[in-house]
Order: sequence, then structure tokens, then C-alpha cells
Amino acid sequence: MNLFRNFKSVTRTCYGRGTFAKLGEILEPHRVPHEGPAPDVERGTFLVFVVDHYFEDKTEFIRRIPAGPDDELVFIDSREEPTTELIDGLRDDILKRRGLPAGIVGIGGGSTMDVAKAGALMFTNEGSSVQYQGLNLIKRPGIYHCGVPTISGTGAEVSMTAVLTGPVKKLGLKCDWTIFDQIVLDPDLIATVPTDQWFYTGMDTYIHSVEAITGTKKNTFAEAYSEKSLEMCREVFLRRERSDPKSDELLMVASYMGGLSLTYSEVGVCHALSYGLGKVLHIHHCIANCIAFDKLEDVYGEYVHEFKTMVKERGVHLPQGLAKEWSEETIDAMAEVAYNLPHMWDHAFGPDWEKVLDRERIKGWYRRM
Ligand code: NAD
Ligand code: ZN
Repeated sequence: MNLFRNFKSVTRTCYGRGTFAKLGEILEPHRVPHEGPAPDVERGTFLVFVVDHYFEDKTEFIRRIPAGPDDELVFIDSREEPTTELIDGLRDDILKRRGLPAGIVGIGGGSTMDVAKAGALMFTNEGSSVQYQGLNLIKRPGIYHCGVPTISGTGAEVSMTAVLTGPVKKLGLKCDWTIFDQIVLDPDLIATVPTDQWFYTGMDTYIHSVEAITGTKKNTFAEAYSEKSLEMCREVFLRRERSDPKSDELLMVASYMGGLSLTYSEVGVCHALSYGLGKVLHIHHCIANCIAFDKLEDVYGEYVHEFKTMVKERGVHLPQGLAKEWSEETIDAMAEVAYNLPHMWDHAFGPDWEKVLDRERIKGWYRRM
């Protein structure tokens, strides 16, 4: 392993059923003006709560969010993955009307948590978020940020990236400051996720865990998290009823561990193909992964068989025959996006990956979908 990383972790983690009720108490000490470099506007003690739009009419849940009259409550439409435009607009509006918030809290899935992570950074970094898409481009630490997942699998609660779709790139704001200061993992919150979505997002952690340990960058650290996460996924998707209270607890921790398995490894073929589907056809990350993984038996063998068993067990709808509708130009464009992710191919096939992989092989995988 020639992998040198020195990674930062989430500062504080609160886990357990009912911990959402503690959120107000957890946030209280952070209702102080931001210290450190920031735009020249008044520094407030208010918090911004960004919440998935699913909860907009769930009055009982909204009542439980510890937002006071001075705080900002913003609903995020997660039907579209977050864009640089959304982040810039949110930041500009709040800075203009209210000044600099003390912190931002994201309550929702990967989309909403990424809005909170990117928002935290963009409150203190001037200009458009487009210019910060990439690794270590952010210049100043962001404001305090806290994540509360309401659906599990992406690992966005632990990762060092906030994925944004920009005018040119779909790429994260990736740096140590992206990582949450606080996460609250309450398994009660994921109970209402519809079955298909629960499965697609849950499979993201299964696929993270498989890809982390089936490539050249695999190592004992990644394997430890990955193997535990896979074991928990098997419990959730093969052995237990969804209604079994333990099931949501397992999935929430599996997501966290699947995310950590990647901090010292890398994603592989499935994620590369998924980026093509996302960029060209706007298919969401988790369902795109499922569409791709289903056709990768030649790379991930027994894991793909296991995945297919899980799809069957859960009676999940997995789109098939999509390639019939795709033109050669569409397939070319997706293959181009995927081909240009050398770090994933290097992990999947080693430094000489160009000897075993060309655009034709990538197109072959897309044609199977
Ligand atoms: P999401 O945030 O896109 O939400 C998916 C759907 O689930 C939405 O319709 C939402 O309304 C619904 N939902 C969420 N919680 C619910 C609940 N408790 N009850 C009922 N419905 C609920 O979901 P996701 O799959 O977690 O996230 C995908 C996003 O995460 C993509 O934008 C992707 O780019 C990003 N992502 C980020 C990372 C990272 O490390 N930052 C990793 C992977 C994916
Ligand atoms: Zn993923």
C-alpha cells in the first residue's frame, strides 16, 4: 500500500434512538458569532436549518426541530441533486438579509447534508462555489455545521466532500473543513423512507464497502470498516424484516462505516459508471449505482450475485433495458465521463489500468444496462 493520507474525522458524534430530541441542547453552545476570517457583514447568533422538502408538511416533525424565531428554516428540494447555483443563492440571500449565521444544520439525506456542508464553507469563502469544486481549493474554514441524516447509505455524514452539480462539473467541495463538526445519528428518523429509495441509498454503502476492498488500494483499515458494514447490510437486506427495529439501527451505522471504509481506500468501476449516468442523464447517485452494479458480474462476481438476491428479496424495482433508448452519442458521452476518472480505474485495475481498460470496454458495460 503506497497510500499516504492524514484524514480528519467528524468532531462529535451522537448516536441512538431518540437522540434527535437532544439536538437543541447540542446546538446551544454554538449560537455564538463566528470567529475567524469571513466576509465583512454583521456576525449573528442565529442558525440556519436546511431540511429535506419531504418534511415540509410533517408538522409534528417540524415542531421537534429546535429552530427558534430568530433562526432560518429553509426546505431543500432533493428531487434535483444540489447545484452550485442553489448554494450561492442561499448564501447570498442570508448574508444580505441577516448577516453571517453562527452555524448551519442539515436535516435530510445526502443532498441536504451536502447543502449544509457546502453552505458552511461558502458563508466564509467569497465568490461562487463553482471556483471551489475540487480538492483543497477552499481558502477559509466555514461556519459551524451539523448533519442529521434522515435516510442512510451515502456516508455523506462522515465524508470530506460536498457534491455539487455546477455548470461544467459535478464535483465536490473537498477539504478537511467540509467535514461536519457534529453529527446526530437517530435511527428513528429513517423509518419513513419509501422501500425503493431505502434500498437504493442503502446499497450505496454496500457498494462503497465492496469497492473499497476490491482494488489495489485496499488495506486493513478499509477492510475493517468495510467488512463490518457488509455484514450489517446483509442483516438489513437479507435477514431482517424492515419493520424489525434493529434494522434501521444497523443501516445507519453501516452507512457511517461504509463511508469510513473509503477514507483510506477508493471507489471503483461502479462509481465511475455511475458518474457517467449522473452527469449525462441526471440519474441520481444511488439508483445509478444500482443500475451499474447489477451489470458488473465480470468485475465484482459474488457481490453482484448477492446484490441481485437482495433486489429480489426486497421486491425492489430496478430499471432494466435502459440502453435500448440510448443513442451512440449518449453512450460515448457517458464513457468519456467515466474514462476520465483515472483514480478510480487505478484503484480497480492497478497503475497499468490502461492496458485492460479502454473506452470500448466501458461502453460495453453501458450497453448492458
Ligand atoms: P437524498 O437526499 O437525495 O433524498 C432521496 C429521497 O429520500 C428524497 O426524495 C427525500 O425527500 C427522501 N427522504 C429523505 N429522508 C426521508 C425520510 N426520512 N422519509 C421519507 N423520505 C425521505 O438521498 P440520498 O440518497 O441520501 O443522497 C443522494 C445525494 O447524496 C446525491 O446528491 C449525491 O450526489 C450525494 N452523495 C454525497 C456523498 C458525499 O460523500 N457527500 C456521497 C454519496 C452521495
Ligand atoms: Zn456512493
